[in-house]
Amino acid sequence: MAAGEERAATRLGLAAGVEEHRFFSMPELRELADIGAVERLAGLPSAYIPMKNSIYYNVAAAFAEEVGAGRVVGGHNGDDRALYEDTSDEFFRNLQRTLRSGSARLREQDFRIWRPLRAMKKAEVVALASTLGVPFEMTWSCHREGTTHCWECEGCLGRVQAFHQAGVLDPLRAAKDRKGIKRVLPG
Ligand SMILES: [Zn+2]
Repeated sequence: MAAGEERAATRLGLAAGVEEHRFFSMPELRELADIGAVERLAGLPSAYIPMKNSIYYNVAAAFAEEVGAGRVVGGHNGDDRALYEDTSDEFFRNLQRTLRSGSARLREQDFRIWRPLRAMKKAEVVALASTLGVPFEMTWSCHREGTTHCWECEGCLGRVQAFHQAGVLDPLRAAKDRKGIKRVLPG
C-alpha cells in the first residue's frame, strides 16, 4: 500500500470510528510495472497486481472468521470491471462460495461479500459520497509516493475526471489551484 493510501485509510478509519483497523504487510505483492512483468502479462494495466483480489479477500475472510463477522465489504466500482477481471460478479460469487465451504463459522454467520458500488461509475460514487458528507480532504487517489497528490498520474487524472463529471468540488484540487494562483500573482 502506498504511504498516502495508508495515511488516508488511517484518518478515515478514525473519523468513521472503526473499532479495530488492521493493516497487513505483503511486500512480495507488487504491481506489474514494479516487478517488470508488464510484457509477460500483456493486456493488463501496469498497476495490476497478479491475483490481487483472490489474496486480499482471503485475508479479509480470515479476519472475519476470527472476529465472527458476517460481511466483507469491497469498494470496487463499475469502472473497475472493464479493467480487472477479478472484480466480476462471477469471480465474487465463486469466491464467496469457496470461502463459506472452508469455514463452518463463516457459514453460521451467513458470510457474504458486499460490493455496494459495483454498478456505479466512479463519477456516480463521487456524487453519492458528496451527498453522504464524505470528507474528501482526507481521501487519497495518487499512485505515487508523496505527501500531496501529483495531479499527473492515472489515479489523479481519474479523480479529476470523476469530480468534474459529478459536478462536485474537490477540496484537494481546489487547494492546489489556490496555491498555483498565489505563485502566479505577485505579493
Ligand atoms: Zn498522482
